[in-house]
Amino acid sequence: MSKRKTVVNGHRPAAPMSWSHGGWMEIVVGSMFSGKTQELIRRLRLAQIARQKVQVFNSALDVRYAKDHIVSHDLVKTPSIAVAKAKDILTRIDSDTQVVGIDEVQFFDADIIAVCEKLAGEGRRVIVAGLDQDFRGEPFETTARLMALSEFVTKNLAICMLCGNPANRSQRLSGGRKVVEVGAADKYEARCRRCFKR
Ligand SMILES: [Zn+2]
Repeated sequence: MSKRKTVVNGHRPAAPMSWSHGGWMEIVVGSMFSGKTQELIRRLRLAQIARQKVQVFNSALDVRYAKDHIVSHDLVKTPSIAVAKAKDILTRIDSDTQVVGIDEVQFFDADIIAVCEKLAGEGRRVIVAGLDQDFRGEPFETTARLMALSEFVTKNLAICMLCGNPANRSQRLSGGRKVVEVGAADKYEARCRRCFKR
């Protein structure tokens, strides 16, 4: 039996990742129907199983389902706090919360970036999910900035509903020209770049 190594390549092994040693940001992005909220809920559930204190926030603008839950398209849901402004998260966060989930981040105002940075800087794990492109195929500025600032970026793809290729765009089927248009299956389809129409 060899003795447990305490020195690796001349360095001490890194301390295990722990919220008390410094937080970080994770972001899950993709088009509609790419499973972003499901992935967010999955990560939050694992943290809860490990008895970490979790709080979840969503924008009061996101009125697709109940205000006190985030819900994926397959109707898996988890309790959340709906806030009108990004900065409201800082007044609603409990001091002992270790993991912060934020769903549909594109609905928030630009302050959400500073809010996420502050929460991670306080040593919390921040997990964000949201659309990376609007219905015109243009990047959402807040999502793009959060992707640049996050330690971990996951890009989910849906399946194009016309041709079956990997899809990273959300085709609006009806409705107005507002960039943030709340809706789900009745208004949007996942499309690949070839089938997407501006
Ligand atoms: Zn296609």
